[in-house]
This record gives sequence, C-alpha cells and structure tokens, in this order.
Amino acid sequence: MSEAVLAGAREGRDGAREFGRELASAGDLLQLLRTGRATTRSDLRRLTGLSRTAIVNRVSALSDAGLVLLGAELASTGGRPPGSLVFNHTAGVVLAVAIGRSRSQVAVFDLAGTELAASAVDQEIGAGPDEVMPVVAEQLAGLLGPDSPPVLGIAVSLPGVVDPERGASVDTPVLPGWNDVPLAPYLTEVADAPLFLANDADAMARSEYLGHAQADGGMRNLLVLKASTGIGLGVLADRAIVAGSRGGAGDLGHTKVPDAVGRPCRCGDTGCLETVAAGWALVARLQAEGRAVSHVRDLVAHARGGDAEAKQLLRESGRQVGELLAVAINLLNPQAVVLGGDMSEVYDVYAAGIRESVYARSSAFATRELQFLPATYGDRAGLVGCAALAIKRVLSPAAVDARLVG
Ligand SMILES: [Zn+2]
Repeated sequence: MSEAVLAGAREGRDGAREFGRELASAGDLLQLLRTGRATTRSDLRRLTGLSRTAIVNRVSALSDAGLVLLGAELASTGGRPPGSLVFNHTAGVVLAVAIGRSRSQVAVFDLAGTELAASAVDQEIGAGPDEVMPVVAEQLAGLLGPDSPPVLGIAVSLPGVVDPERGASVDTPVLPGWNDVPLAPYLTEVADAPLFLANDADAMARSEYLGHAQADGGMRNLLVLKASTGIGLGVLADRAIVAGSRGGAGDLGHTKVPDAVGRPCRCGDTGCLETVAAGWALVARLQAEGRAVSHVRDLVAHARGGDAEAKQLLRESGRQVGELLAVAINLLNPQAVVLGGDMSEVYDVYAAGIRESVYARSSAFATRELQFLPATYGDRAGLVGCAALAIKRVLSPAAVDARLVG
C-alpha cells in the first residue's frame, strides 16, 4: 500500500473499490487505525471500499490477535464511543539496542514508541561482540521481566556500515571484531523475534520521525548530524532515510578535507575529516598536552564548565564539519540541520562553529529558511530511532498479515 494510494483514499475518492492493485488487507486496516486516519468500521469502509463483511472479518482477525481493541471492550474504561476501534499499543514490545564504542544503551518500548524501561552499560573501547553482546542480552532480559508482553522485534544500531540483510556490520575498520559477525544469534535467548540493524546516524535520523519530522509542521527533509566519538550523517529526504546503494550514505567523517592532509585516521587512511573534528581526535590532542581526558564526554564536561580550550576545540570541530555540511545542504536543500551526539550537547558552541562555515559556503537560497535544531531526544536518540525502526517493520501491513496467517 503506497502513501499515494492512502493519500488518495484519505481525500475521499468516493466509490473506490480497489485499494492499490489489491484489496486492502487486515494489515492495511491496522495502518489506518494506528495513524488515526480511521477510528470506526465505517471510516475503514469509506477509505478502502471494502464490503461490510470484509471489514468485519479483517477487524475480527486483528482483534483476535490483540492488535485492535473494540469500542465495547473500551466502554468500561470510558472515553471512547461504542463503535470505535483502537490500535492496542500494549499488544507487544520492541527492544532497542544502541551500541557505541565505549557504551551501549538498551531499552524496551511499547508499540506506540513509549519507553518502558532502559539501562546502559560501559565497555572497553574496542571490545568485540563476544564481550558486548552477552551483556546486552543480560540487560535486556532484566528489563523484560516475566509478565512482559511478547517481543515482536529487536533493532540494533552500530557505528559504521551495516548490512541489514545479514544483520552484521561490514567494512567498518573502526569496529574491529564486529565485521561480518551476525548479531541475531546473541539475542535468541532473550526473544524469538526478528532483528533489524541500522547505522547509528541513520537511527538518530529515524528518531526524528517522532521528533522534528512529526512536530514543527512535519519536516520532510532533514540532515541529522551525529558528532560524537565519530562523525556521521543521517539523511531524511522526503521523509525517507537515505541509506545509499550499499548502506554507506552519510559517512561524512571519512571524507578527505584540506586541513587534515597527512593526518592518520582510525579507519587506516589519512586526511579524513575525523582527524580534525571527531571526538577521538580532539581527546587525543588534549591528551598530548597532558590534559586528563579519556573520552569525548570528558571534553564536553570541560567545555560545559567554561574551559576555553575545550570550547575552542568544539567550535573548531563544528567549523570543520560545517564545511562539508555546506555541500550537503546545497545538494539536498533540507529544512533543518539537526545536531546530535555528545559534542552537540554543548549546543551553542557547536552550532556556532557549524553556522559559521555553512553560511560562508552554502548558497543564499539553501540557507534562507534553513533551521539549526538540537536532536529531539538528546542522548536517547539512538534508542528512540531503533524503536521507530523495529515498530515500522513489525507493524508494516505485510508483517501484520504474515502474523495473522501464521
Ligand atoms: Zn578515516
């Protein structure tokens, strides 16, 4: 079912008997109820052109599966008219896992995207999946508890390029030990549910489906920067995440820039943006001066405390990143640049550096109405994005129809 078909149906093409090429399925009906486009059986009939009998059968199947609550069931809780149909967002949960270089976050979300429980664990930089994933599994099992609704899906985000088909990180030299290792087997003990994998900046961009892309008049085109230990970019173009032909879109940090010529990068190459702008490089610079910092979060804490050098490093990082963002802005003409990741938490300083370069290098047209905004979910953006990904997949019409048949 395409958005266009839905839009056409929503605008009331009276007498539409067909819903796309095929008749609307139960999964399609659930989509209409979830998004609030329909709240009654007659809404569903009007939007899909299905017969009364077909609507009754499909709604019964959704109700039997616990995905839809009927008005009669809700009457006791008050507030809903008897004929109304409501998506049951407590019919299951999804698990979200945001793996970073030195810290992993895990959380449980209901099907409306509300966080129910969360925790975080620190790990050694460079730890491989055999060290990290069992701890992640243990944390998730602890969050779930014995009375938890069924787990319908799990989404995991990783820094670097991922192969969603194989559920593994690929070609990511900064995550040694993770390449080509499928992650699903580590979590089978926690839940018998499909695993979806995402790049960390893409997950952050996806969180904005529930943030700036939903609020603020429904932004459809965003650039979402993750400026943390590494530098990555998530691209939301016409409300779709742009992953690229092999999942590598937005790998801003390993673009060569003039100021970095000859500097060795953690990817094995030289001259990358990260060597002059990423958290790992700025921390290394401070350490070389004998400063007591071990993580980008230490740098951020110093900057927050008013440390002039730390603030200067962050502003310079923003300026360097802005030089490349300026090109992306001219290329994609976004409504806003959303700044996330540890370094963006010192928002005014980081955004000032970025603005300086963007306004100097982007076209006047592209920047005339451009906004700069902090990431809606701050340091939870990766988790929220993973939850949004899992929910989108497990509640897609095809996935719902498959569950009803199974
Ligand atoms: Zn590099």
